[in-house]
Amino acid sequence: MFVEFQHLSLEVNFWNEVFNLFKFFLNKVDNILLINSKLYLKRMTLKQNLIGLNLGDLEKIVIEFSEPKFRAKQIFEGLYQKRYSKLEQFSNLSKKFLSELSENYEIKFLEVNKHLKSKDGTEKFTFFVGEEKEVEAVWIPVGDEERKTICISSQVGCTLSCAFCATGRLDFKGNLKPSEIIGQVLKVEELVSDKATNIVFMGMGEPMHNYNSVIKSAHILHDKDAFNLGAKRITISTAGVVTGIEKFIENKEPFNFAISLNHSDKEKRKTIMNVDEKFPLETLLLAARNFTKTLGRKITFEYVMIPEINMGTENAKKLVKIARSVNCKINLIPVNTDFHGWRRPTDEEVEIFKSQIKESNVPIMNRRSPGKEINGACGMLALS
Ligand code: SF4
Repeated sequence: MFVEFQHLSLEVNFWNEVFNLFKFFLNKVDNILLINSKLYLKRMTLKQNLIGLNLGDLEKIVIEFSEPKFRAKQIFEGLYQKRYSKLEQFSNLSKKFLSELSENYEIKFLEVNKHLKSKDGTEKFTFFVGEEKEVEAVWIPVGDEERKTICISSQVGCTLSCAFCATGRLDFKGNLKPSEIIGQVLKVEELVSDKATNIVFMGMGEPMHNYNSVIKSAHILHDKDAFNLGAKRITISTAGVVTGIEKFIENKEPFNFAISLNHSDKEKRKTIMNVDEKFPLETLLLAARNFTKTLGRKITFEYVMIPEINMGTENAKKLVKIARSVNCKINLIPVNTDFHGWRRPTDEEVEIFKSQIKESNVPIMNRRSPGKEINGACGMLALS
């Protein structure tokens, strides 16, 4: 909104001083116009993004505007089910209400900085989330299957430093807000002109270190009036932050859960997973058993295979022992980065390791490395 300030009749230098003074008092002036010898100043108001708000948040807002509570559901559905990107698209809300709402609220999609496409159909996106802050998300369609996964980030950088992970080498710059987590899904879907069938919180950051925003976003993705993704289609992962796992169990969260195990030896795990210093393997496995017992569901162990580090007969035997003690499935992933002089296992090495752990009788999946050529595969986010 522009406010008429005053007739312009004085020297420009004087007005510069006035302008600076106003800037100081108004905190920020983002536009200044001179029309018909009148000076107009536009004060920048920081509007709140409606993206990332849940139904409860929206109900509080509509009540502030003395609107009936069902308006909140209309906004909720418009944002997440119909994927509206502008307030004007809400044809079921009155013009007066929309105009009042737009004074303090907006729908703001993330801004994309880079968009890379791989031959295998995988696409990687880099988004701005504030000054000098970027995060990445990956679109992963699987062949002819109906599965289209978006791998999303939960933090800018990470405070952990798993030895195979590029994100772990970045400075930590903060947690993402729900608007920035849900924002990744909305913007990726807009750019690929398709909708995700699965979401995995396996991008940049440790989801358990941004627990509240991650869980709030997961519930919006799950809500039938929003993205309507089944709880089993949303996977939240951790490198092994036991306090987060306990909270997840206590709140009986319905989502799939994955632990990035990556080593079966209690002494050696800490050499590649620094989270193990705080939450040792035995404590982690106790939490995993508690998870499966209390929630009655399988847990997924992710295992990044690194030759000479965590493969071989001895490690396989220990992994079988772990798998027999927890109701789980195992997801094997060949290491994608070559840090520390590591190399990717050959197909033959992978097959041998797989056959060694088969006797555990737990389901074993062998994940490909979609998006490797665009640095979009596991452990590669943040590699330019
Ligand atoms: S693997 Fe996940 S938890 Fe570990 S450093 Fe990378 S982003 Fe952080």
